[in-house]
Amino acid sequence: AGELPHPPSPRVITIANQKGGVGKTTTTVNIAAGLALHGLGVLVIDLDPQGNASTALGIDHRAPDIASVYELLLGDVSLREATQQSPNNDHLFCVPATLDLAGAEIELVSLVARENRLRNALDENLLSELGIDYVLIDCPPSLGLLTVNAMVAAKEVLIPIQCEYYALEGVGQLLRNIELVQAHLNPGLHVSTVVLTMYDGRTKLADQVAEEVRRHFGETVLNTIIPRSVKVSEAPGFGMTIIEYDPGSRGAMSYLDASREIALRSTRA
Ligand code: ADP
Ligand code: MG
Repeated sequence: AGELPHPPSPRVITIANQKGGVGKTTTTVNIAAGLALHGLGVLVIDLDPQGNASTALGIDHRAPDIASVYELLLGDVSLREATQQSPNNDHLFCVPATLDLAGAEIELVSLVARENRLRNALDENLLSELGIDYVLIDCPPSLGLLTVNAMVAAKEVLIPIQCEYYALEGVGQLLRNIELVQAHLNPGLHVSTVVLTMYDGRTKLADQVAEEVRRHFGETVLNTIIPRSVKVSEAPGFGMTIIEYDPGSRGAMSYLDASREIALRSTRA
């Protein structure tokens, strides 16, 4: 693991695509682990009630009475109280999600500054104290208030796109939502990164999708493509990312390459 630059201030990146199963969570935790392996400080905020990102980072989000992102959004706990260190890496932290979060989509509606709850909760002093260089926010598969909170809290959006039929389906709607947030709530927001996931080199279709996505998004698309690999999907079952579960595997290498590309790209601060 070579040296990667520390950004001048934490880069906050939202991983969004309202389609389920495209690799949002897998990409979030593996990029996080890849950056952390290079010694960069990473905080993952799990915004999906399923809590899969928390699980992959070795955090028991089913434990009773844990402070989670739900209490953080409601203002009942501080970022310090909600943040846990991942047992897998000293530089890796997580604000876990619990099933309570499923109700937040509705509960948030009546709160003051409902779109700004997450941004307001991101305590810069704590981020600096923990040495956080990257905040990665894993979104649920919807464009509701949780995802809007993630888009208001971030400067960058990372869109994972699965190399499958209908890959670009729904992406137009996602981009329109990003534009709305940009126009009304967060002028600095932009799509900084597109990652092609679950690529199966044996199919012509995968190459056609990759080509189409590159035509559509140009340089925003990472050169690294994430291959489909059973090991990638097994790792969370062991409370790990592929980078700890099988460091030499193609999946681990590709996510390491992807995290390096992200870290070396201009931050457009
Ligand atoms: P999302 O968060 O967008 O719903 P996930 O990251 O949970 O998507 O991925 C959906 C499913 O696909 C999960 O079961 C995950 O383990 C699996 N998966 C993700 N990436 C890969 C990959 N590169 N190879 C094989 N399986 C993958
Ligand atoms: Mg997910």
